[in-house]
Amino acid sequence: MIKIISALLITATVMFAHSEEHAHWDYATHGPADWGHFSATCEKGKSQSPINIRTVDTVNLNSSHILKLDEDRHTVAEVIDNGHSIKITPKKGGKIVLNGVVFKLLQFHFHGNSENTVNGVHFDLEMHMVHQNADGTLAVVAVVYNEGKNNPALDNILGGIGKTIRIDPADLLPADTNKYYHWVGSLTTPPCSEHVEWYLLKEPQSASKEQIAAFRKYYDHNFRPTQPLNNRKVEAR
Ligand SMILES: [Zn+2]
Repeated sequence: MIKIISALLITATVMFAHSEEHAHWDYATHGPADWGHFSATCEKGKSQSPINIRTVDTVNLNSSHILKLDEDRHTVAEVIDNGHSIKITPKKGGKIVLNGVVFKLLQFHFHGNSENTVNGVHFDLEMHMVHQNADGTLAVVAVVYNEGKNNPALDNILGGIGKTIRIDPADLLPADTNKYYHWVGSLTTPPCSEHVEWYLLKEPQSASKEQIAAFRKYYDHNFRPTQPLNNRKVEAR
C-alpha cells in the first residue's frame, strides 16, 4: 500500500513539474516577479541582471577586463520573432576576446525599453550580442539606442523579420567601442544563469521614432526590472 501511495505521489509531482514547465514565462501574466517558478536563480541569485549603473559609484576598469571586438563579418542571418524578442542568428558570427579568451557571437536580440539603466534612466532600446567561449561561459555586449535619426542597420533587421538577411554585425556597433561599463551578472531571462560577463558600450546609437514604434508593435515592454547590485562593482573605461 505504501509503495502504491508513494508511486502515486511521485507521479503527481512529476505531472505538476511538467505543467509548470508548460506555462511559459513572459513579461505579463508570468512576468519577472514570477520567474522564480521557472528557475530559482531568478529569485535567489545574488548577481542578477539587468542593473542600474550609478556612474559616481563606478571604478576604473581592471586591465584584464579589456574588451576586444572583432564583429566585422559579412554573413547571412536568420531574423525571427521568438516570442520573447526579435532574434538575429548570423550564420558566420564574429567574436570578442577577453584576456586572451575567444568568445564567439551566437545571436543578438533587442529589448524595449532598455534593461540596464544609467543613473536610473532607461534608453529606448537595448541590443544584446550574446557570445560564448569554449567552456560555455557567456559574455554579452550591450548597445543602447535613443530616439534620433534613422538607423539603416536597424531597418535591415526590422524589415527582415521571418526572413534570412545579409548583415554585418559590426554595422550595429557605435563608432567608439573603447568606452564601456563592465560587470558580472546573469541572463536577463529564465533560467537567469549567473557568471555572465557584461559589457555596455557607452555611446548610444540612434533609432528613428518610426523604428522604435515598429519594434514596439512586436514588444512594447520586454525588459526585466533592474536587480540589486549587492556587493558587485561596475567598472568603467
Ligand atoms: Zn537580452
